[in-house]
Amino acid sequence: MERFVRFEVAEGVEWGKFEEGRIHKITNNPAAGFESTGRYYEPSEVKLLAPVEPSKIVCVGLNYKEHVKESQSADEIPEEPVLFLKPPSALIGPGGRIIYPEMSRRVDYEAELGVVIGRECKTVAAIEAEDYIFGFTCVNDVTARDLQKKDGQWTRGKGFDTFCPVGPWVVDKLKYEDLQIESYLNGDLRQSARTSELIFPIPKLIGFISSVMTLYPGDLISTGTPSGIGPMKSGDRIEIRIEGIGSLVNDIL
Ligand code: MG
Repeated sequence: MERFVRFEVAEGVEWGKFEEGRIHKITNNPAAGFESTGRYYEPSEVKLLAPVEPSKIVCVGLNYKEHVKESQSADEIPEEPVLFLKPPSALIGPGGRIIYPEMSRRVDYEAELGVVIGRECKTVAAIEAEDYIFGFTCVNDVTARDLQKKDGQWTRGKGFDTFCPVGPWVVDKLKYEDLQIESYLNGDLRQSARTSELIFPIPKLIGFISSVMTLYPGDLISTGTPSGIGPMKSGDRIEIRIEGIGSLVNDIL
């Protein structure tokens, strides 16, 4: 199992992977294959960025039963995955600030397991879907809840700049079927579930999404949030924690 990062140093933006506590620079986005360079950095020398560079971010709504119950977007469990897109311009990394938009009066956190695609993928069967996964990361599907309800569709409410914190790294070869997923607002536990509770499990999601749109190496799927969503305000700190991956922390500006 490896931990892959994207980071900024004086020379520019680089990709890397952790090796014995140091970051080994690699040639490019590891989701598309990479080579080592022999150049190492100390973690203290770099600023971590979102560890993905997707052509698109495909999100799944209403994918945990208890969240469907608390949500007003649906009365019952969906028969098929509910999909929407977040723009790549919404990405920020670990430690990046979430900007509270002036248009909104309610901005929520949503802890989600992110899946990074490793091979071009079109209409794959669920049973083969695992072959197309590069790795896993933490996602916060930040949502302007008032605008999501007002608009009836979710592009504006989900699409503001900074509304897609991802990180702190991508972990490959993770057994993803039953991981603890949590969020903490200012240190208080707000969401707690296991990925085994997903209504549509990850292979099904990849099969379904790839029957709609071609997925490319580096694309990100955010698999839906458990119950316990709630609002954040300026000055808050939100943490998404997933077993086997780590902790993604962002402050609200
Ligand atoms: Mg969500």
